[in-house]
Amino acid sequence: MEEIFDVIVIGGGQSALACGYYLRRAKLKYIILDKQAVPGGAWLHTWDSLTLFSPREYSSLPGWLMPKSEHQFPLRQEVIDYLGKYEDHYQLNVQRSTEVTEIKKNEGLFYVHTLQGIFKTKTVISATGTWENPFIPTIDGIEDYKGLQIHSGKYKNPEKFIGLKTLVVGEGNSGAQIVAELSKVTTVKWSTKKEPEFLPDDVDGYYLFTVASARYKAEKEGKPFDSSQYNLGNIVMVPTVKEAKQRGVFVSSGTFHQLYDKGVIWYNGEKEEFDAIIWCTGFGYNTSYLKSLIETDEKGIAKTTESKSLEVTGLWLVGYGNWTGYASATLIGVNRIAKQTIAEIEEFLNQQN
Ligand code: FAD
Repeated sequence: MEEIFDVIVIGGGQSALACGYYLRRAKLKYIILDKQAVPGGAWLHTWDSLTLFSPREYSSLPGWLMPKSEHQFPLRQEVIDYLGKYEDHYQLNVQRSTEVTEIKKNEGLFYVHTLQGIFKTKTVISATGTWENPFIPTIDGIEDYKGLQIHSGKYKNPEKFIGLKTLVVGEGNSGAQIVAELSKVTTVKWSTKKEPEFLPDDVDGYYLFTVASARYKAEKEGKPFDSSQYNLGNIVMVPTVKEAKQRGVFVSSGTFHQLYDKGVIWYNGEKEEFDAIIWCTGFGYNTSYLKSLIETDEKGIAKTTESKSLEVTGLWLVGYGNWTGYASATLIGVNRIAKQTIAEIEEFLNQQN
């Protein structure tokens, strides 16, 4: 008889594993399909020195906690190791090196197309993250620029920027962490739309996640919540950023309106040459492979109530950001929504039988 799964999860990063934890508990027939050859999801591609802004206590998936180490804020490699061991610990059913190219639906069944063949399933969870959909703003002259140009998603370490005058664009945590690192090896300028805002040194990840949790609870209960004291979007003072701030490297050069072959043209009309530009301008959502099933906006956002698709019965999207569940793109935050998603899937499957 042909194999039909209850659930196929597309992904293989933290969101897929969190779903796997609850799928295993629910004893559903599932498989996780990941295009990468090894565990780690997007963390495999982040820059080498990346330190999480979430403290260890707030960086675990459901069940088995991230092991202790001397680092209060886990290092990238520690997350990669944790995800690999987590998968082994629960013996999750993951098939790697399997890229899903398209999904079609016919008479209540999903047909998941991969380069290794077609898988059939009653429901689908899309958990493909953001990393493969980097966002670079449309700016005049961007095609004329002849220097080195990369998105932060492709930045690994400062090695190839040594001696290259570099412009880092974007005022978020990625921009700040990359400026901090590059400023030790080369001349770096920072282009930000607004003056970068840093959280106070004593407002660490513990505080942030506590405030975020309290805000979520208040919103759920319909109660007012005053989070005006600290803006949760401000830059977190992880050790590398703290050290660079003391060196006085975080000076914004403002914004530019155009690029030319050798660099940028600032708003005051001045031209400035740069050997390299690093775009720390965020990500869209990696949902294009669902195009036969749903429509998304230009960033890849689909119509959902939390993780459940409003367009296609039997489809859920997990871990992309607040639109798929509050804080669902974080290690700790994906727990609640993964649990809820699997409960919804169980209910759906029971109704089908
Ligand atoms: P991903 O980790 O991107 O995994 C998706 C997987 O799906 C990948 O393995 C990919 O190869 C696979 N895939 C994609 N397309 C297909 C396909 N068509 N077929 C099969 N497989 C496919 N979170 C925290 O909790 N704490 C932090 O401190 C923190 N710091 C961050 C710092 C930065 C700079 C960034 C960018 C993010 C940070 N995050 C942090 C956020 C968060 O952890 C990530 O967004 C997380 O990687 C999302 O996990 P995911 O499983 O949803 O997606």
